[in-house]
Amino acid sequence: MNGIYDVIIVGGGPAGLTAAVYTSREMLNTLLLEKDICGGLPASTNLIENYPGFSEGMNGKELVNRFKKQAERFGTKISEFSEVKKVEVSGEKIKVQTGKEVYFSYSLIVASGSIPKKVGVRGEEEFKGRGVSYCATCDGPFYRGKDVAVIGCGNSGLQEGEALLKYVKSITFVEFLPFMNAEKILQERLKKSEKTNFLLNHKLLSINGEETVNSITVEDRTSGESKEIKVSGVFVYVGFLPNSKFLEGLVDTDKSGYIKTDEDMKTRTDGIYAVGDVRSKKVRQITVACGEATVAAISVREYLNKIKR
Ligand SMILES: Cc1cc2nc3c(=O)[nH]c(=O)nc-3n(C[C@H](O)[C@H](O)[C@H](O)COP(=O)(O)OP(=O)(O)OC[C@H]3O[C@@H](n4cnc5c(N)ncnc54)[C@H](O)[C@@H]3O)c2cc1C
Repeated sequence: MNGIYDVIIVGGGPAGLTAAVYTSREMLNTLLLEKDICGGLPASTNLIENYPGFSEGMNGKELVNRFKKQAERFGTKISEFSEVKKVEVSGEKIKVQTGKEVYFSYSLIVASGSIPKKVGVRGEEEFKGRGVSYCATCDGPFYRGKDVAVIGCGNSGLQEGEALLKYVKSITFVEFLPFMNAEKILQERLKKSEKTNFLLNHKLLSINGEETVNSITVEDRTSGESKEIKVSGVFVYVGFLPNSKFLEGLVDTDKSGYIKTDEDMKTRTDGIYAVGDVRSKKVRQITVACGEATVAAISVREYLNKIKR
């Protein structure tokens, strides 16, 4: 067993690292646990154009690395490859279990984000890593000069599609809804490209191939007709699932599993706060995650002042 931390932060993405900057600057004894290496979703995003202060945009990995350095500079202890599996509360103490260690703290900031949802069609599991990908920035270079499909026309789909353009011969975007949900600026940029083709109101039926992917089958939801499109790669962006299971019984969630909090980011359990993409809300962006983390860190300070007096 280790000593008792003032605060344990779960997740080393933008939300968790921002919370760490604030709690460490408050001289709170802070431990951040990250299941992989720090970075979160931005670590696999090529260019972030809407984080203020970087007028030319900034590579996502580099941006979050700076967050990490900043947190460490103020004294945050970071433990990577430490996945939180279980949290228990006993009075004012919170017990946090990873696969290998048990830690104790007086407060917890949950910033565990979300993971990409599967589209759930035949061939998706079978060809994962052999033509099916959830990260265009990571896998784009493998598709140089090839035809690919992007499933989902929200911000993630279009942004990652844009990152693919410099490698691929063509992109067929497939969207279940009759319209695109992405920011207008992204829609305009991608529509201008000669390499893009949009199938709105179409349902992905299957991903087909032998050793690797060689086509997809889609259905036109208006006519009911289906067709096969030759592609070598399929990039899936159809939403996310929150990483909130390890808090079962301690927090309220919405029907999708996102954690409900009050405006101080407090969950229904004293001492436990939730911020960033794992929190129930409408807008999921880095600036929002950072703002919520700031609020939670200040709420934690106030909570600790109260219980330690
Ligand atoms: C393709 C794509 C492009 C995007 N582009 C932009 C953009 O241009 N601008 C913008 O503002 N936003 C963008 N976003 C959204 C942005 O990435 C998120 O809003 C932001 O990353 C949320 O930060 P977070 O810290 O809450 O979650 P995440 O970034 O998801 O970080 C959560 C971290 O928690 C860790 N974790 C999860 N479970 C556990 C556990 N049990 N124990 C320990 N650690 C755990 C994860 O490994 C991860 O590192 C994009 C998202 C995607 C998918």
